[in-house]
Amino acid sequence: MIAQPKASHFINGTYVEDTAGDAIPVIFAATGEQLATVHAGTPAIVEQALAAAAEAQKEWAKWSPRDRGRVLTRAAQIIRDRNEELSQLETLDTGKPIQETRVADATSGADALEYFGGLAGTLTGEHIPLGEDWVYTVREPLGVCVGIGAWNYPTQIACWKAAPALACGNAMVFKPSETTPLCALKIAEILIEAGLPKGVFNVVQGMGATGAQLVSDPRVEKVSLTGSVPTGKKVYAAAAAEMKHVTMELGGKSPMIVFEDADIENAVGGAILGNFYSSGQICSNGTRVFVHSAIKDKFLKRLAERSAQAIIGDPREDATSIGPMVSETQMDIVLDYIAKGKSEGARLICGGERLDRDGFFIAPTVFADVTDDMTIAREEIFGPVMAVLDFDDEAEVIARANGTEFGLSAGVFTKDIQRAHRVIGQLQAGSCFINSYNDAPVEAPFGGVKASGVGRENSKQAIEHYSQMKSVYVRMGDVEAPF
Ligand code: NAD
Repeated sequence: MIAQPKASHFINGTYVEDTAGDAIPVIFAATGEQLATVHAGTPAIVEQALAAAAEAQKEWAKWSPRDRGRVLTRAAQIIRDRNEELSQLETLDTGKPIQETRVADATSGADALEYFGGLAGTLTGEHIPLGEDWVYTVREPLGVCVGIGAWNYPTQIACWKAAPALACGNAMVFKPSETTPLCALKIAEILIEAGLPKGVFNVVQGMGATGAQLVSDPRVEKVSLTGSVPTGKKVYAAAAAEMKHVTMELGGKSPMIVFEDADIENAVGGAILGNFYSSGQICSNGTRVFVHSAIKDKFLKRLAERSAQAIIGDPREDATSIGPMVSETQMDIVLDYIAKGKSEGARLICGGERLDRDGFFIAPTVFADVTDDMTIAREEIFGPVMAVLDFDDEAEVIARANGTEFGLSAGVFTKDIQRAHRVIGQLQAGSCFINSYNDAPVEAPFGGVKASGVGRENSKQAIEHYSQMKSVYVRMGDVEAPF
């Protein structure tokens, strides 16, 4: 058990164990080897975490925002200093190649802590003059927030939620995905080392049941979930029952549109990034690639050639560019979709099978001649499976791109600048790209429309989702009552 943490949970500044909770094996997806065992949070653990968070939040909210920010920026620096160690853990936890985790996980978490740490001191209300009288507004924290994570970006998700929450003066109880429980514990440790008061950020492990228990607790004011649409609907409903605030970062089936004048190499590069990075396990992926029929053959040829250059292998090795699926379960789900693609008549260009080796590897898979009604064009697969669809007309492709319940992301490749903006302006998606795909800088809002979610992470927008305004009317003269 080469990655066994000191204990399963991190509560009130320290590791805590309760072996009465169900055992959760942590499996290295590249070999099937067991890395660690953690235990799901029992009701007693959930109680301990929420009580610690509620108590700590009262004091944390009294800190000056700039002092709170300093803790976050210090944590960001520690994360950067330990990037290699944290990236190796992320690779073990998720199976993602080390060449990815070195640049996309701990570093992205550090970006968020740095950004919101810097923003903390600027979070103010306003003065609203009304003649003699005036109103002033005070930006207040919400209280105890619950963060619930998916398994594809465990470090990043923990930081994207913790950073704005803590900057605003909230406390957080974070439940990582049961598939990737290791990385959030490191973030909790680092925050304490950076000077965060104990109890302000806590980690509780567990499955959906533990998450549900956290969400329904009356002490919790806000829930931020990163997960699938079905889970999002359940969590949103549970939160609504007690009028809690929510942020929902959910799934997608995003369109990427390649017009006939696009730079083919860049469009192919965008399609590779938007379908095969992290073995395709990215919510915002552009998994419906609409390619103009005039360039379809050229596009598919280059896609097949470049896909053949992927180095599939042990994600701990520097050269590896494609690792395994996160788990056997996820691999089976993806293989099932590949079988549906074949049986429904899509044309397989490359991949389409499990690799004959230990671990849960699937070759990067491209289907061409995909039509809108095929299962692989309608449902989120969350694996390295790209569906290429043909189109001829701008209005037609916009309507087809929008013909989905999801609305997380969308991309357009074209050299025609007017067309780029015209098309993006009509696409129903929260995070869009022109001649690029899947960039997610902390400065930009991130989130979906339609079934893909509610609220935004990152950017100044996130502050609105972790704070609320109190308005105070100040009368300078006498009160004029009717009697
Ligand atoms: P999931 O919905 O199965 O689980 C997400 C989290 O919710 C897990 O921690 C799980 O334990 C918890 N959970 C499950 N049921 C719950 C309940 N009833 N109450 C409270 N918590 C509950 O998702 P997953 O399989 O871990 O992740 C993949 C999904 O996440 C994909 O759909 C993907 O698109 C989405 N995702 C979205 C974003 C985004 O930012 N929009 C980012 C990453 C992943």
